[in-house]
Amino acid sequence: MISHKDNPTDVLVIGSGVGGLTAAIILLKTGCRVTVVEKNPLPGGLMRSYQRDGIDCPVGVHYLGALAKGQPLRRMFDYLGVTSRIPVERMGSNGVIDRYIFNDFIFDLPEGISAFAANLLRAFPEERLQIDVIVKNLKYTSAKMDDFDILFAQNHDFVSLVEYIESLGSLMTNLHCSAGLRSVLGMTSTWIGIPLDECPIYYHHMALASYLSSSWRLTCSGADMADAFASRVKNLGGTLMVGDPVERVLIDKRVVEGVALKSGRVLKAKRVVGAIHPKILLGMLPEGAVKPAYIKRISNLEDTPGSFSAHFAVDAEPHQELSYNVYRVFTDGRGTISDVVFYQLRKSNLPGINLLSIITPSPSAEWNRWEHTRSNRRGDDYRVAKQQKADRLIREAAEIVGPFKGLKMLDASTHLTLRDWVNTPGGSAYGVLRSTKQLTSAAMLNRTSVEGLFLAGQSVLAPGIFGTVLGSFYTVKQMMGHKKFLEEVVL
Ligand SMILES: Cc1cc2nc3c(=O)[nH]c(=O)nc-3n(C[C@H](O)[C@H](O)[C@H](O)COP(=O)(O)OP(=O)(O)OC[C@H]3O[C@@H](n4cnc5c(N)ncnc54)[C@H](O)[C@@H]3O)c2cc1C
Repeated sequence: MISHKDNPTDVLVIGSGVGGLTAAIILLKTGCRVTVVEKNPLPGGLMRSYQRDGIDCPVGVHYLGALAKGQPLRRMFDYLGVTSRIPVERMGSNGVIDRYIFNDFIFDLPEGISAFAANLLRAFPEERLQIDVIVKNLKYTSAKMDDFDILFAQNHDFVSLVEYIESLGSLMTNLHCSAGLRSVLGMTSTWIGIPLDECPIYYHHMALASYLSSSWRLTCSGADMADAFASRVKNLGGTLMVGDPVERVLIDKRVVEGVALKSGRVLKAKRVVGAIHPKILLGMLPEGAVKPAYIKRISNLEDTPGSFSAHFAVDAEPHQELSYNVYRVFTDGRGTISDVVFYQLRKSNLPGINLLSIITPSPSAEWNRWEHTRSNRRGDDYRVAKQQKADRLIREAAEIVGPFKGLKMLDASTHLTLRDWVNTPGGSAYGVLRSTKQLTSAAMLNRTSVEGLFLAGQSVLAPGIFGTVLGSFYTVKQMMGHKKFLEEVVL
């Protein structure tokens, strides 16, 4: 047994992504002593940007939803005390947040559910009935999000059974929606890695409603955002240890006792929050710590796919910043999305240079030759393969916006980069796939059968900054109990 006598920490958090740092801040604010342990030399996980040729390149924060005053993410950021440290600008000033370019039509995603409904009706005038049903559901989900029903309602009906178990794809099939309408609605689910036919209505609407309520871009870097969270932890008296991965979670008789780090250090605590992928946490548990059924359930979870990202510097004058994102979308005759490419053209931190970021899926088959090598050891042919893919992407981009002046590739990364940088199994971008196919096994992932051991991070409730932050509040509620949470946390 490890003694807890001189223990300076009540809770150990594994991982300093937005999920771990959010959990740490809430726990610190409610009086716990907290230590966050991060494997990388710098905190922030996917939130953190990096520099190439002096230009800041984003990783996992391109835009954020629901940050207007009074909206859910803003209220959570206010509670966490990070709002003033994360400057943002509102998108959609010209009526467009996202432009979806399909083979035969363009659809603009505007701000506001009513404006969205109007755009849908304009694009699909014969489908008023179908659009009415979808928009009604969307408004319902949005209202529940605004109320933080999932956190505060005693017996929340946030996820009504039908919304939870039915996929939006099957609802749309039952409503006889056209291929065009399916492809527009399919964009949100595809972007969070879930095919429309497997995407629970609730997950789809939660992600879409958050961006429709208001969409924002950072005017600071992702690194600044990460530092805002990290310094908040420190200012509240928390400890942040970086560059030393957790290797093992220490458990005695199904009760958590602390963690062992790669350096050999042992940190003791009665509660541990793994703000990392559940499969990675599972690999840290001693044999016999959890039941075989739990091991099987977690090991068999399917994850969202990984992504390929490329960043290019372009001359700012001929390639002015776009205030909206562009998605090039490829579909089949049924409106099922087969491929998506995301483009964001923004001012860079250097004068006269704008940054074009492109993201697209990163199929494992393209990169499996390098699967067993670690970063920086993949050799020249890997670099060439990345360059070739980036070249193809930039040629396709030029078909949309014309030839580029002053073009320079800054960096390209595959799902293997994500896998090695933040320890996400298979390089998954959004963690566990929250599909209708594995609803039961993916439910309640923030709990484990080990006393004092919890999970946070994008896999526990929903992905994205909004879903991950909300998930951390949900995990802390689980740790404290409903009554204490209501007393302590006011949003
Ligand atoms: C390409 C891409 C684009 C995205 N774009 C957006 C966007 O525009 N808007 C949006 O809202 N969301 C976006 N997301 C999703 C969003 O970034 C994530 O949902 C969110 O950042 C996940 O946070 P997390 O804390 O769960 O995980 P992570 O950020 O992955 O944090 C986990 C942390 O745990 C650490 N760790 C892992 N193993 C160990 C260990 N053994 N010991 C110690 N530490 C460990 C990792 O190093 C990491 O720092 C994007 C994601 C990707 C991949």
